[in-house]
Amino acid sequence: MDRISQLHRTRKLRKVRDEFLPFAKPCIGELEIREVEAVLQSGWLTTGPRTHSFEEKFAEYLGVEYAIAVNSATAAMHLALEAIGIQAGDEVITTTFTFAATAEVVRYFNAKPVLVDIDPTTLNIDVEQIKLAVTPRTKAIIPVHVAGQSADLGAIHELTTRYGLAVVEDAAHALPTWYKGRRIGTLSDFTTFSFYVTKTLATGEGGMITTDHKQWADRCRIMSLHGISKDAWKRYTREGSWYYEIMAPGFKYNMTDVAAALGLVQLGKLEAMTCRRLEIAARYDQAFKAHPALQIPTYPSYTTHCYHLYILRLNLEALRIDRNTFIDYLRDANIGVSVHWIPLHMHPYYRKTYGYKPQDFPVAFHEYKRVISLPIYPTMSDSDVNDVIEAVLEIADFFGE
Ligand SMILES: *Cc1c(COP(=O)(O)O)cnc(C)c1O
Repeated sequence: MDRISQLHRTRKLRKVRDEFLPFAKPCIGELEIREVEAVLQSGWLTTGPRTHSFEEKFAEYLGVEYAIAVNSATAAMHLALEAIGIQAGDEVITTTFTFAATAEVVRYFNAKPVLVDIDPTTLNIDVEQIKLAVTPRTKAIIPVHVAGQSADLGAIHELTTRYGLAVVEDAAHALPTWYKGRRIGTLSDFTTFSFYVTKTLATGEGGMITTDHKQWADRCRIMSLHGISKDAWKRYTREGSWYYEIMAPGFKYNMTDVAAALGLVQLGKLEAMTCRRLEIAARYDQAFKAHPALQIPTYPSYTTHCYHLYILRLNLEALRIDRNTFIDYLRDANIGVSVHWIPLHMHPYYRKTYGYKPQDFPVAFHEYKRVISLPIYPTMSDSDVNDVIEAVLEIADFFGE
């Protein structure tokens, strides 16, 4: 900590809460516990009837032809790129403002993730920058629906149709999200979802691939389990047999029935959980919108927002402290927060491998320095929400210019 912030901290701010409020927490109730218990009792722990039922219900919920359950969104993106046929040396365009997984899956193929800058309003991939990044080697685009609002899919599809590129949406944040009245998960070649513990639907670890293309769906399914031509679980039931064929060297990405049991219950309460997130977001908006040091999230009319994240931005010119110090004070107030994200191009691997400098993507670089993700999850009480509001406003007032 530098001297100035140390000085500030000697002027004690009030501790808002006695107990630490975690940044994220899954919404697990009696029903989840009962269903997991039933799986354990059933003796079928790995991919089986519950996984298949989860896939069916998920596809039905979105209104998409095929849903393939896997053990993470990272696996889902890997399989989608494999089905498209990404090869070494190909280029895949994505945003620098995302999680590690989005670009790392491109490296699995020894292909090149081509990072581009973001739109300052939405923090989503800037379509004008995609246009500048397309080359004859470009094979696909991976847009990310940052925080839970859709990327500009219309403009992206216009481009990919013109250049014959595939689209794999990283929808780890976008369940449920609507783009122009249509559900995310039904709009591109592939969409991938995450059921990681912090996500809007949580199974601990888990993911889903959705697509309307039968051939691609088949390929993903086969490659998700060792490239084997039949579901293993059928081999051990009456209808199955001991016989199987290896079609390609696949992966071990299948979902367990334990996770699927959680997923089925969580899917059933997704709308209710989303309502609560929206309520909390509305409270935050109301509390912060007039403060000169704070910028609330806004999003274009073509999308809805499911608020997986509530990304508050600091107007640094209206504050005497930087974002990191702001976070230190929130922690002192017992409020857990996070930062989404340190842009990929600023990380050692991408700097060293591709020679990126922080200023190469000025918008992402600038926004990174002023983002704070506040706690937002269905089990937060009104009083938790009030504590966050109080702490943020107190710090913003105290250090406001
Ligand atoms: C969480 C997340 C992922 C990875 O999801 P896993 O299920 O943990 O593999 C990918 N992209 C984004 C944008 C994420 O937030």
